[in-house]
Amino acid sequence: MKIEDVVCSFCGCLCDDLVVEVEGTRVISVENGCTLASEKFLGDHRLKTPIRRDGNSWTKISYDEAIAETAEILLDADRPLLYGWSGTFGEAQSVGVHLAEILGAVIDNTSTVCHGPSILAIQEVGHPGCTLGQVKNRADVVVYWGANPVDAHPRHMSRYTTYCDGFFRKDAFKDRKVIVVDVRDTESSILADEFVKVNPGGDYAVLSALRAIVRGKRGIIPPEVEGVSREQLFRVADICMSAKFGAVFFGVGLTMAPGKNKNIRNAIEFTEELSRHTKFTISPMRGHWNVYGSNEVFTWISGYPYAVDFARGIAFYNPGETTSVDILKRGECDACLVVASDPGAHFPKECAEHLARIPTVQIDPHVNVTTHLSRIQIPVAVAGIDAEGTAYRMDGVPIRTRKLFQGQYPDDFEVLEKIYAIVKEAKG
Ligand code: SF4
Repeated sequence: MKIEDVVCSFCGCLCDDLVVEVEGTRVISVENGCTLASEKFLGDHRLKTPIRRDGNSWTKISYDEAIAETAEILLDADRPLLYGWSGTFGEAQSVGVHLAEILGAVIDNTSTVCHGPSILAIQEVGHPGCTLGQVKNRADVVVYWGANPVDAHPRHMSRYTTYCDGFFRKDAFKDRKVIVVDVRDTESSILADEFVKVNPGGDYAVLSALRAIVRGKRGIIPPEVEGVSREQLFRVADICMSAKFGAVFFGVGLTMAPGKNKNIRNAIEFTEELSRHTKFTISPMRGHWNVYGSNEVFTWISGYPYAVDFARGIAFYNPGETTSVDILKRGECDACLVVASDPGAHFPKECAEHLARIPTVQIDPHVNVTTHLSRIQIPVAVAGIDAEGTAYRMDGVPIRTRKLFQGQYPDDFEVLEKIYAIVKEAKG
């Protein structure tokens, strides 16, 4: 059976034009997707049943046992941490926040190690963003700053920018100018009309120089700013100021560079400076397919987008203190539930070591690095393949992922609802 208009649940582009061929409970071909999508849909490395660590080996257990033991671990803990959430759908994220609240736990999502600084900057100065549809149809200048879409979001350029014709951009490849700013040559920088190579850690200074030029202060710019010549800075500012509609996209190359949220604040203020001359927007390149959704869902329920601590009985938010990396580094939490992410692969070593010391439960379809740190792993259905739910694209547009066949696994929502029911009953 061929199914059209399938949504890809891999990266924040959430491409919704895939054609997937299914035979029984197996995907046998994928059209329109990039290589990352093909890997996701065709990959067949799922954990078959829940497992519990017994010394150096694993024992297969039933879902009921795994769920009951997980609830017990969370109920026994004084300071549980519920981490991940970016690789699952909104309905499951919502149960996660309610579970954190009833447990008095900390709940955090993967923004903590990617676009957390972007959120802090947006909370300070706002977000002059727009949808990807606006970019596709209108933008004649696109800036990728600290982002490498060819590798991380392979269809971003073909669906929305460089190669994609739009309503007001009939010949996109000729009509659009693409500027890439990065500290190194990348697959994306090769495709740029203008590649601005910045010294590592120099983004803030380069953004400040560009803002000064846009403000009409060319005279104060030194011959070189963090590896970028004055002539190139003038050229880039002129390209941006003469755009009819410009769009800046920034990635973790900017959010995680020295300066962090101040870089993003400066980039937003650069965008606002440009909007005194023309129309410019700025948007983060979100990585996990539903990391934007995790920020939305957390905010609807608790008022805060990530790093929410319910230990006081109310939602408390203080990134740097209530963020998972900081809690794990301090050795503060005594149990952890990891949902749809792999902190073992992405967190600093001392955090992974602490996860291995405490009872860690992972809810994830696949064996990954975190499996090796966990006591229990519960495999679940994959959203967009054998589970459905709502996700938010990187521009904040909600999109419903589809279930392509009925598989053997429960989904995140069902497993979390059962854990929640046990916890609720125990808490009275
Ligand atoms: S660009 Fe992202 S969402 Fe689109 S097909 Fe590739 S991995 Fe999937």
